[in-house]
Amino acid sequence: MERQFTKEIESLRLGEGETFHGEGILAVTKALLQSGVSYVGGYQGAPVSHLLDVMVQARDYLDELGVHVEACTSEASAAAMLGASINYPARGAVTWKSIVGTNVAADALSYLASAGVMGGTLIVLGEDYGEGGVVAQERSHAYALKSLMWLLDPRPNLATIVEMVERGFELSEASNTPVMMELRIRACHVRGSFTSKENRAPAVSTRHKLDGPPKEFIYDRLAHPPATFRQEKLKSDVRLPAARKFIRERGLNEVFPGTENVGVIVQGGLYNGLQRALGTLGLADQFGASRIPVLALNVVYPLVPEEVIEFSKNKTAVLVLEEGQPEFIEHEIAAFLRRADAPAKLHGKDCLHMAGEYNVEALVRGLQKFLGQHAPHLDTSSGTQWLNAVESTKKQASALMSGLPVRPPTFCVGCPERPVFSAMKLVAQDIGRPHVSMDVGCHAFASFEPFSQGNTLLGYGMSLAAAAGVAPMSAKRPVAVMGDGGFWHNGLLSGVASNLLNKGDGVLIIMKNGYASATGTQELISSPPEEARMVAVGNSAADADRTIENTLQGLGVKWLRTVDNYDVGTMARTYREAMTTPQKGLKVIVAEGECQLERQRRLRPQVAKNLSEGKRTVRVKYGVDEDTCTGDHSCIRLSGCPTLTVKDNPDPLRRDPVATVIDGCVGCGLCGENAHAAVLCPSFYRAEVIQNPSVWDKLLHPIA
Ligand code: SF4
Ligand code: SF4
Repeated sequence: MERQFTKEIESLRLGEGETFHGEGILAVTKALLQSGVSYVGGYQGAPVSHLLDVMVQARDYLDELGVHVEACTSEASAAAMLGASINYPARGAVTWKSIVGTNVAADALSYLASAGVMGGTLIVLGEDYGEGGVVAQERSHAYALKSLMWLLDPRPNLATIVEMVERGFELSEASNTPVMMELRIRACHVRGSFTSKENRAPAVSTRHKLDGPPKEFIYDRLAHPPATFRQEKLKSDVRLPAARKFIRERGLNEVFPGTENVGVIVQGGLYNGLQRALGTLGLADQFGASRIPVLALNVVYPLVPEEVIEFSKNKTAVLVLEEGQPEFIEHEIAAFLRRADAPAKLHGKDCLHMAGEYNVEALVRGLQKFLGQHAPHLDTSSGTQWLNAVESTKKQASALMSGLPVRPPTFCVGCPERPVFSAMKLVAQDIGRPHVSMDVGCHAFASFEPFSQGNTLLGYGMSLAAAAGVAPMSAKRPVAVMGDGGFWHNGLLSGVASNLLNKGDGVLIIMKNGYASATGTQELISSPPEEARMVAVGNSAADADRTIENTLQGLGVKWLRTVDNYDVGTMARTYREAMTTPQKGLKVIVAEGECQLERQRRLRPQVAKNLSEGKRTVRVKYGVDEDTCTGDHSCIRLSGCPTLTVKDNPDPLRRDPVATVIDGCVGCGLCGENAHAAVLCPSFYRAEVIQNPSVWDKLLHPIA
């Protein structure tokens, strides 16, 4: 991974009383070290990737403390890593993106929650729900409920997030239960500061090793029958009461008093939005002092009945603000109030929408509805004015945008995956469009224009498995597309092994770009070695160990081709052969080309250095001869590269705009390849821009 976290790593070293500045997710890294964590693991994914990225890059410092860091190959391996805390007094933390990562980790989590833990365990979840989310929209809360693991949802400010990390480990130990902490996208990226403490070197660590396994073998620590029957009872009879006691005694949830006799119970993570909404309604000041009392739940599971009943006392009504569906918290609070015969009326999903994010607009509308019924004396007209202004802005934006073309997200400039889809599109003109199973990763951009390929998306590494039911029912072979990240995460076993076991047919295209690119170019087992990456031009991923191919051959894949992505002609021929060959069995094309983003990150500083040292530097750029361009734009429909666009036709006798390559072209060569493979008009030219030319360059290319 080329992104350097030098500044962030320095922040990890801050000592007692110093001030940490930065993002919420990076505050978590510091809090883990302040908590004396022994080991950290996880699988990258927005919005928590930086936690693991920073830890991996800070390995030298963590080694000084004796903290072990593991870049796990999936969330399942990360969850299983927490097994170290079942028998030993070692604190462990792992991280991943939820809901998807929690689904992958679910098996190990069930066993961990059943056995219970001795050392504190914290699972930091990037709760990818709502605006900006990129996965199936579900809540992690359901996992907390079914497994009886505790769930923190801290108020999004750095001091509270850090406090909850530290208390989270203590809560885990006090109740022998794993603790999850959900951080929404906004909480991960909220910026702020907190006063740091010294880092704690863990008691059990890589520097202070265990003598061996526990002296006494304790069967009850194994999640295996008959121990599991007892563990199931321990969860509710012992661990749950212990957790509630700890939460109450240590004041993990916060009450913010107000003057009105109605109240709001809010998930901690929504607190900032609530404050903004109350401010908009004229009911809170800039510093958060509100007329409406608020109970902020930094722990959303388990809830503490006494806290809820106490807060509702002397109130005519309470509103529960709980994002997403179903309304787990509201149901539980309803049961608490009913059992206590509390008179306060309960509102929640009847005032706000059931599914989707609670942004400030939604909160203002919901609060107005609630207060209109139970505190009509409050003047909330400022909220109405604000909502009217929002409506009017939306109308204006919609009118303006209706005239603009849709701009779907797409691959980076020069991405090696684009040529593969160009080749597939070309071949489809002859043999028709096949069923395409997509996967999680950059290649999913091909589901948008101009490729529009991808009929299903079932999860990370699942594309080939998702084609298993389609293949036997289809006259044409289905195609599964998978990245190398997905291949190692899940695709090898769920897809390839299953296909071979069942003697399946079909075509699998593996995008071997060298990294888990979509999550921040983290390294894989098949990433190119450092020395191969310094190849200045060309396809450095080709120099990597051929681990994917070796693995496939070892497993028994008979039809296997490795093709340079940028060679569109060969890619098209190979793909056509895979689709039409009478040979039965799985056909795998390893499409090889290094992630261009990663390549440019590495090359740009090198080029800048060379230029500053006066060294000769050559940059390749493609261009369009505007006199030759016919204006039919098939090159654009075959490529979709953002730097290949249109401009006004300079010929006064022709009206169609001509294609043009704007600055930003990285010279990947796809334009020329497409023109050649698709026999397009011969308008593309390749230019070499030479900076700091040599004497020979000047002699050979004198300025005219
Ligand atoms: S990050 Fe890499 S693989 Fe992903 S779209 Fe960009 S260049 Fe392509
Ligand atoms: S050669 Fe073409 S496809 Fe490649 S970066 Fe330049 S404009 Fe984009």
